Amino acid sequence: MIEFQLNRPGILFVLSAPSGGGKSTLLRELLSADESMEYSVSVTTRPPRGDEQDGREYHFRTESEFKRLLAANAFVESAVVHGNYYGTLRSEVEERIAEGADVVLDIDVQGSLKLKKERPDTVLVFVLPPSIATLEKRLRSRGLDDERAIRTRLENARHELKYANLYDYVLVNERIEDTIDSLRQVVTGERHRAHRMVLNDALGEIEFIKPQREQMVGAG
Ligand code: 5GP
Repeated sequence: MIEFQLNRPGILFVLSAPSGGGKSTLLRELLSADESMEYSVSVTTRPPRGDEQDGREYHFRTESEFKRLLAANAFVESAVVHGNYYGTLRSEVEERIAEGADVVLDIDVQGSLKLKKERPDTVLVFVLPPSIATLEKRLRSRGLDDERAIRTRLENARHELKYANLYDYVLVNERIEDTIDSLRQVVTGERHRAHRMVLNDALGEIEFIKPQREQMVGAG
């Protein structure tokens, strides 16, 4: 019999990386091998690309629908990225967290920092390319963008990279297998942090002292 029970609410993880940084591969690997991790599908006003499906990659909405959701306080965070609106729905996050599932968000730097301010317990992970030159090579070799789009992406990357030090974790993505390993270690480590846990003794012999609120916030 397990006498000591460990319970905790779910954790909100944020993964940010410049485009071409390997983020979608990392997310796919993380989600496919981890049943307690769920992906939060954002709302966006940008049109679908390629074979993207409504409700899978994004909830694709018009600008007026987006603004209606915004006014109804339906988002935990939202931002304008490359001229389009993006937002994380409260409904994608809060219920799952309350039920103990962990949720991962793929959002930009502005959204991540806003979220961290409001919910200090959010875990921010930044994936850095080994260099701008490598990023440029990767963007070119995947062949998805024309020259102008590559220039814009590199410019955005240079801007976003500046904020990496404000995240909780930075992973330099040199070999994708190693980066996935490190990401899993971050997730495992965060899941074991004492301040997130509610400890209970089934036999009632020990009454665990709960961490103070300041400790919880400070540790998040
Ligand atoms: P894309 O249009 O290429 O899928 O995404 C563009 C950028 O928007 C990426 O950096 C992505 O992380 C970010 N993004 C996607 N969903 C959200 C969201 O809900 N909130 C914020 N703040 N950024 C998002």
